[in-house]
Amino acid sequence: MKKRIGDILIQMGFIDQGQLEMALIESKKTSAMLGDVLLRLDWITGEQLQTAIAVQSGAEILDTSAVAIDHALIAKIPVEFVSENNVFPFAQEDKTIKMATANPFDVLTKDEVARMTGCRVKTYLAPKEWIANAVELHYKRARTIDEDIEKLTISDVGEDTSAEDQFVKLADLLIEKGNVLGASDIHVEPDTNLVRIYYRKDGVLQQKHIFPKSYHQSLTTRFKIMGDMDISNVNIPHDGRFKFEGSAEEINLRVSTFPTHLGETVVLRILKYTDVVGDISRLGFEPEDLEKFIKNLKRPYGLILSTGPTGSGKTTTLYSALLKINNPSINVMTIEDPIEHVIPMIRQTAINQKAGLTFGNALRSAMRQDPDVILVGEIRDQETAELALRASITGHLVLSTLHTNDTASAINRLLDLGINTSILASSLNMVVGQRLARKICPHCATSEPIGPEETELFIRNDLEPPADIPKAVGCESCDNTGYNGRSGIIEVLEVDRAMEELISAGAIHSKIEETASQSGTCLMFKQALKKVARKTTSIEEVQRVIAYA
Ligand SMILES: [Zn+2]
Repeated sequence: MKKRIGDILIQMGFIDQGQLEMALIESKKTSAMLGDVLLRLDWITGEQLQTAIAVQSGAEILDTSAVAIDHALIAKIPVEFVSENNVFPFAQEDKTIKMATANPFDVLTKDEVARMTGCRVKTYLAPKEWIANAVELHYKRARTIDEDIEKLTISDVGEDTSAEDQFVKLADLLIEKGNVLGASDIHVEPDTNLVRIYYRKDGVLQQKHIFPKSYHQSLTTRFKIMGDMDISNVNIPHDGRFKFEGSAEEINLRVSTFPTHLGETVVLRILKYTDVVGDISRLGFEPEDLEKFIKNLKRPYGLILSTGPTGSGKTTTLYSALLKINNPSINVMTIEDPIEHVIPMIRQTAINQKAGLTFGNALRSAMRQDPDVILVGEIRDQETAELALRASITGHLVLSTLHTNDTASAINRLLDLGINTSILASSLNMVVGQRLARKICPHCATSEPIGPEETELFIRNDLEPPADIPKAVGCESCDNTGYNGRSGIIEVLEVDRAMEELISAGAIHSKIEETASQSGTCLMFKQALKKVARKTTSIEEVQRVIAYA
């Protein structure tokens, strides 16, 4: 007998029994489908529903966060066909086409793609909206965007009256291009005679366009206007944000300008909700660490810290944790600087230094709002640290981030802030430390025999050295970088009895790491080497993102 969708959703940890029962009542009352009710209540995402349907139908699910797009294949298939049938053929491996579909039972379309390409077709399940967006971006916009940019910039802009309009269009196209590329940031950088446009993808900057210097001011001004920023003063940094109505989807952007001796640089950060609403199992945890992580999330009180440098994914991990534990029977509050992503059914507050709403003040007031779970964006000072600790020992689960390199340093940092060691020892449940490493592109990856230095690294970390290690090459689908998508390298330090004693005694960094390893914490560098052995990432990438261990 087919498994019921509700049971599958519970089994996959997307909802709990209480949520299912409430949704079933609502579903009976309104005669709506259970899946739709859960979607409406924001208890599951469209993606999670698809996953459950896939499990029910036996089809394979596409990991939409890490799709390597094969542009050569896309050029071969007519855009009308894919949009009419709502499928997204995205890659080719040997004589097999990989195709995303929302309907795993649509055999006709599958056969037609096979006929057109002369290849076998393997289908993967993906949400309908995701497919529609992907088709819009990769089949429609991507084909024309560079041409459009070229058309706009080929004619000298000069004193033309339409010039302003031209820069409005150019700015839009540059943003759209960032979205098509899956970039996180767009940089506009003035040089002596030029303006360079860079895109950051998977953590690495790539130069994509060069324009004459005469473009600099108009382009900068346009982005500042979009961000509702002061265009008159170019000598001080400015911040702004705006929503951009792209051709396929709405994009949220944060803009920042910085004065340099060559003029203002502009950086646009593309904020994507989908980056944050992460399925916790996709963040990159090793299975045993994920289990530890979830176990500690389910404890009703205590402090959980996420650490790492800027851009290491520590906030994403906490947001995903919040989504995991969020349910209507608990009160979840956040204090952030700023709120980057709005999460349904959670009370979010942005601190406002100018108005006197600091992390400390906000946390103090939040405690009077009867919260169960509080996310404090970052612990930066002693006051916030003490308040967070106090909240965590008075029956609240507190999640926060610390800007340190690893888990042991987080404990040292709190001790340096002058926190009472025994309170810290008894309230701290878990510290997670992480980096984001780029994943080897599956299309062009090759292996090479492991060298003596790398062998030594594995042995020093108590790991069996593999015979081969992956090597990044570069092809059309990964934009010649050799990498596609990123995965977290995450160490999870659970505070057990031995660790409590160490913290109480104010132990030093090396002692904390040593004890953690003995109690089963796999430290970050070792975690990374495991990923190299599994050919997920390369040694070079690991060395790039983690300080040499
Ligand atoms: Zn590649």
